[in-house]
Amino acid sequence: MSTDYRDFTIATIGSHSALQILRGAKDEGFRTLAICQEGRELPYKSYKVADEIISLGSLSDFPKIQDQLREKNAIVIPHGSFFGAMDLETMQQLKIMYYGNKNILPWEFDRTRQRSWLSRAGLHLPKIFESPEDIDRPVIIKFFGAGGGKGFFLARNPEEFKQKIAAHPGQSYVIQEYVIGAPVYIHYFYSSLTGELEIMSFDKRYESNVDAIGRVAAKDQLDLGLETSYNIMGNVPIVVRESLLPEMFQMGQAVIDASQQLEQHGLFGPFCLETIVTPDLKFSVFEISARIVAGTNPFINGTPYTWLRYNEPMSTGRRIAREIKHAITQEQLKKVLVNDHH
Ligand code: AMP
Repeated sequence: MSTDYRDFTIATIGSHSALQILRGAKDEGFRTLAICQEGRELPYKSYKVADEIISLGSLSDFPKIQDQLREKNAIVIPHGSFFGAMDLETMQQLKIMYYGNKNILPWEFDRTRQRSWLSRAGLHLPKIFESPEDIDRPVIIKFFGAGGGKGFFLARNPEEFKQKIAAHPGQSYVIQEYVIGAPVYIHYFYSSLTGELEIMSFDKRYESNVDAIGRVAAKDQLDLGLETSYNIMGNVPIVVRESLLPEMFQMGQAVIDASQQLEQHGLFGPFCLETIVTPDLKFSVFEISARIVAGTNPFINGTPYTWLRYNEPMSTGRRIAREIKHAITQEQLKKVLVNDHH
């Protein structure tokens, strides 16, 4: 295997966080490749982040271009749109250089396993209601699979749940305690080369229509019979109260430590804890994303936090590329590409 990073191409699907992944790779001196759904190439051309674009009639054809990816010595960076394009098994069976630890994927995919991972890390999680009959407080009903919060709804009791779930026949869901507080999504990066954990940035989501409801008077909300929905359309940067940082570092480290008990090599690279901070400043963690999240997109030019450490623009995408570059030059690629699916 070459120890010259210029012999490698950084590739990803043209969607989600591809702009910063590709731009970050270019900043680190890599060649870049975007794999786009036909008709959706323009952003990657216009922003000049892709040295090359491969267009596919359907992104589900991704496995068919594996030969081409191998020829280009491409290292593929997964992000949220991979989950829409392929199922878990297809992802695990890809025979290409895949950034990350594929053995962690099932722990993220399966909500029950995800919960046991986060509990093992000692994090506080919203209560889950196994049976709708047990609903005794506000709950949020979430459907499985990618879709960015589309169709999620709230209920206060079993009757309201039954009435609303009728619109979603055959869909699998989870009933979770609805925690009132301030949402904050924590973006981490853990280096498997140095064993160091970084906090890169924070965001909150901008969702339709829940983020617009506050613009309508309560009386009108009732008159209009508004129902909240959580379809994400963008992300808003946050800087957190500084005294919250020590606990945030501890939470991230606990998740890494727990992951190393679950799977060899554990979780590394970018990941995100999705939390609600309650009025007594306690974190309630409702989800983990074990990869780059789109919430890092406002920070292509870096964040106040990455500025402290790097003194140069450092997006999460660029941080990934830098890690891969170090791995290549130190002949440690195996530490960032854990593909031995078992
Ligand atoms: P998700 O798709 O799981 O990230 O959630 C979509 C939206 O629901 C986000 O706006 C979250 O802030 C909100 N949300 C998710 N779970 C909870 C919860 N347990 N309590 C309060 N809000 C939540």
